[in-house]
Amino acid sequence: MQFFRSVNSVAPLALFCSRLFLKLFSFLFIVRVHLSSLLYRIFHLVILDTAYYLASLLAMNSTSSLFSSPAETYWGQFDEITKYNVHLNVWERLWAAWYAYLQNDVLATGIMSFVMHEIIYFGRSIPWAIIDRISYFNKYKIQNQKIPTAQEQWSCAKLVLLSHFTVELPQIWLFHPMAQYVGLATGVPFPSLLTMLYQIAVFFVLEDTWHYWSHRALHWGPLYKNIHKIHHQYSAPFGLAAEYASPIEVMILGLGTVGAPLLWCAITGELHILTMYIWIVCRLFQAIDAHSGYEFPWSLHHFLPFWAGAEHHDVHHEKFIGNYSSSFRWWDYILDTESGPEAAKKRRERRLAKEGKKIQ
Ligand SMILES: [Zn+2]
Ligand SMILES: [Zn+2]
Repeated sequence: MQFFRSVNSVAPLALFCSRLFLKLFSFLFIVRVHLSSLLYRIFHLVILDTAYYLASLLAMNSTSSLFSSPAETYWGQFDEITKYNVHLNVWERLWAAWYAYLQNDVLATGIMSFVMHEIIYFGRSIPWAIIDRISYFNKYKIQNQKIPTAQEQWSCAKLVLLSHFTVELPQIWLFHPMAQYVGLATGVPFPSLLTMLYQIAVFFVLEDTWHYWSHRALHWGPLYKNIHKIHHQYSAPFGLAAEYASPIEVMILGLGTVGAPLLWCAITGELHILTMYIWIVCRLFQAIDAHSGYEFPWSLHHFLPFWAGAEHHDVHHEKFIGNYSSSFRWWDYILDTESGPEAAKKRRERRLAKEGKKIQ
C-alpha cells in the first residue's frame, strides 16, 4: 500500500520532468538549427558573396557571365535593387539588400543591432585602454594615481562580453517585435538629416531624465547593495567599465535608451530604425567617454557647459554620491545633487549666507 502511495506521488513528478526535458531538448534543437543557419548565412554573406562580388567586378569587361552575383546572394539582391530603384542612394540600397537577402526582419534587425553594439562598444573603449598604457596622457587622467592595470581591464572586458552574450543578446532579439508593435519604420528611403537630428536631441533629453531618477533610486540602500554596487567596483572608471553592471541595472538603465525612442514612436508614429541606431551609437559614445577617466582642454563640456562628460561622472565614481545624470548637468544643478569640492564649497557658502541672514 505504501509502495503504491509513493508511486502515485512520484508519477506526476516523473511526467513533469520528462515533459520539461522534452521541452528543453526541442528548445535547444531549435536554437541549434537557428544558430547553424545564422552562422551559415553570415559565412555566406562575408566570404562567398563578397568573393562573388569582387570576381564580378574583375570580370566586368569580360563577356563571360560566370562571375555575376546570383540573385539569392546579398550582392545579387543589391544588384536587383539597384536596377529598379535608381532614386535610392548607395547606403539605402545596401540597407534594403540586407533585409531582402535575409528575408527575416527579426533576424536582419537582430544581427545588425548586436554587431553594431559590439563594434561600437569595443571600438570606442579599446582606444581608451591603449591611452591608459601611454604615459604622455597621464597628465589628462582625472584620478591619475589610479590607472587601471591591463589585467583589470581584461577581466572587466570578459565580464562585459559575457553579459553582452547572455543578457543583452536576448533583449536585442526582442527589440524587433517591440519596434514593429509601435510602428518603427525599417524601409527606404531614410528620413532627412534634420528629422534625425531633432529626434536624437529629444532622446538625449528623455534618456538623461530617466537616467537621473533611476540612477538616483539605485543609490538607495537596498537597491545599491543588491544591484548598483557592481558598477561602483571601480572608483576610478575606464572606458570598458561603462557597461560593467548587474543585468538588472542593464535592463533598468537600458530602458531609458531603448524606451525613449519607442515611446516617441508610439506617440508620434514617426521614427526610422536608422535614427534609433544613430542615437544608440551616440549614447554608447557618451557612456564610454563619460567612463574614460580623461579630461582634456578640448572636452565637449568646455564648449557646451551643460554637457556632463567624464569630469562629471568620474566624481560620481570617486565620491559615490551626487552627479547622477548621464548626458547633461541640469538635473543635478536644479536638484542640488552636484558632487565634488566645488559644489560642496558653493553649498557651504549658501548655508553660511542663510545663517548670516537669520542672525541679522
Ligand atoms: Zn552610481
Ligand atoms: Zn558609471
